[in-house]
Amino acid sequence: MKLIIARSRRNDIIAISGMWSLKDKMKILKMVPDGFIIYPNEIISIVDDIKLDELIKSIKNIEKMISLSTTIARLRRELGLDKRVFICLSSILDSFEDLARAAYCGGVDGILNDLRSVEVIAKDSTIQFINTEGDDRQYVAVRVDELSKLDQDQVRKVHGIIIYLYSRPSISLLRYLRERCIILYGKSRIIIALPHIYLSYNFLRKAKDVIYGVALTSFGLLVKLDYVDYDKDIFMYRCSECRRDLISSSSIRKCPRCGQRLIELLKEPSDRYFKYTARELKYIFTNMLKIVEKGVVVDYYGY
Ligand SMILES: [Zn+2]
Repeated sequence: MKLIIARSRRNDIIAISGMWSLKDKMKILKMVPDGFIIYPNEIISIVDDIKLDELIKSIKNIEKMISLSTTIARLRRELGLDKRVFICLSSILDSFEDLARAAYCGGVDGILNDLRSVEVIAKDSTIQFINTEGDDRQYVAVRVDELSKLDQDQVRKVHGIIIYLYSRPSISLLRYLRERCIILYGKSRIIIALPHIYLSYNFLRKAKDVIYGVALTSFGLLVKLDYVDYDKDIFMYRCSECRRDLISSSSIRKCPRCGQRLIELLKEPSDRYFKYTARELKYIFTNMLKIVEKGVVVDYYGY
């Protein structure tokens, strides 16, 4: 059998997605369910041996989904759950169903129907979300250079303003934009739409006090999947209290450090894991987010 392992140098958490696509291609012995969060270098699945080229093909496919869910998960954590995180439709169109589902595994609030063209949006002033489960409010979208051209009446009704940015923003620019939205429209909730490459941890830490959310116009391959041969059973848990992960060669009931309940991360697959709705996936993710640590904390038992 093979262990599939998730690696990421730029993220300290990985949000699992794409298990549904794995199950059609090979026999899954154990897996971390979609919506769960693990740390880098942990196992995402144990699968029966299949042809190597098929395994590699499936892995490539899931890398994209896990990268998206992880990018969104990272934003969710840096901004806080009271903020909004959206993904723009144009960035997931090439594989819409898989990537939309992956986005919900990372806790996305909705998919922004940006119609590829900002001009179209600006013309009729309001935009809608499709597939939104958590946020059915309306937002208005506008290019940063046309912020003062919005229709006052329409802006009055919306919950916030989405501003498309085309270069790396500074915090002082964000403050300025927020001020402008307050003065012009009486709205302080601004959501910035921009590619993931502008969103460093350092930037997000400072930006989160100024912005109401982020709409991603792109995402990158932040997670790599690897595989290794292995022939013993493996158990992987997270302590609900001290939030450490345990990887063990035998099953454990309570946390050896604090005695609290352990959550099983590697589970035997069951049909219900593949049938969750977008709302349920987001709910699972949100609960998992409450039990992750900054920095990787993994204990090994029996190795
Ligand atoms: Zn513990």
